[in-house]
Amino acid sequence: MDHTFYAELANDSLRGLEPADALCLQLLTDPEIELLPLLNAAFTVRKAHWGKSVQVHVLNNAANGKCPEDCCYCTQAKTSDVDIEEYPMKSSEEILAEAGRAYASGAFRYCMVFSGRGPSASRAAQLAELVVKIKSTYPLEVCVSAGLVDDEKAKILADAGLDRLNHNLNTSEENYADICTTHAYSDRIETLRAAKRNGLETCSGLIAGMGEPPSSLVEIAKTLRELGAESIPVNFLLPFEGNVLVTPTGLTPEYCLRVLCMYRFVNPTAEIRCAAGREFHLRSLEVMSLYAANSLFLHGYLNAKGSAANRTYQMIVDAGFEIESDFSVDGLIAPRSSAPHEDQPIIVGETSAIKTLEDLRPTR
Ligand code: SF4
Repeated sequence: MDHTFYAELANDSLRGLEPADALCLQLLTDPEIELLPLLNAAFTVRKAHWGKSVQVHVLNNAANGKCPEDCCYCTQAKTSDVDIEEYPMKSSEEILAEAGRAYASGAFRYCMVFSGRGPSASRAAQLAELVVKIKSTYPLEVCVSAGLVDDEKAKILADAGLDRLNHNLNTSEENYADICTTHAYSDRIETLRAAKRNGLETCSGLIAGMGEPPSSLVEIAKTLRELGAESIPVNFLLPFEGNVLVTPTGLTPEYCLRVLCMYRFVNPTAEIRCAAGREFHLRSLEVMSLYAANSLFLHGYLNAKGSAANRTYQMIVDAGFEIESDFSVDGLIAPRSSAPHEDQPIIVGETSAIKTLEDLRPTR
């Protein structure tokens, strides 16, 4: 491809034009489209909307495991045999203390994740109280991921000042029954619509590498554009021995980067996050993800370990990006910012290392 192809790709996206399905597919699969100019075109769009800033998210696995749903990629599903640390919802005090630690470790956004099908009305009220407490204590953006949510519960959370509701689509409508049978794709869409109707921003993404054809990833990108998702976590399937779906398919580092670029062109103004699998699947090309994506997770993922915090910060700074945080860069990249347990390997054999209780419920 000559340089005009890449320039048009960026310019059309900047003008808000939706790339055709065939073009999106080509970005994922055509070897004539070279990676570096593609990343540069994605960077042009990213820079126009987000500059060189990187938003750092910290997840709190606030209730872990024991989920009645059967999402085949999830270590918390009733069908998973992965040996994770299970616990019911942490106390408000514990969650608040962990919000403080997330803030001190440089987080821009604190994401509380609760396993389960969806919150009851009383659980939604409890979450609303938590949101008020966190937001009045720390200058953090707050996101909640609590399963299926209707208008009533979305309103309770919105009235409490919640910034965003997370609910991932994970895969396309066509493939949904292959990854989950206990709820439907339409349930997920309806949750996102309820959030929007009640004034919440939405965070919704995907998991690539679950055996889906590339066209499915295009379909999800376009659906998220139509739904107006402000934030799109792009996850790459992590392998856990004991899950129903163990082995990721087709995830080379280059393919992962192509996926991130395609999501940037289709959703130019969205926060695109290089989420789970950043270290595992992108390997030595990890830092290149920041040319398309403008956010990432620190301290690993729900039940999977990630890189040490200072290593991640060093990577961001070394590539000339800027960490969006109230704290100084020097403080964030100092070795003392990572707890000793963060230095343990994140890959064991061919699978992802599982978080320990100290990772999930840190005491310092
Ligand atoms: S509903 Fe959420 S926590 Fe439960 S199995 Fe599915 S992804 Fe995992």
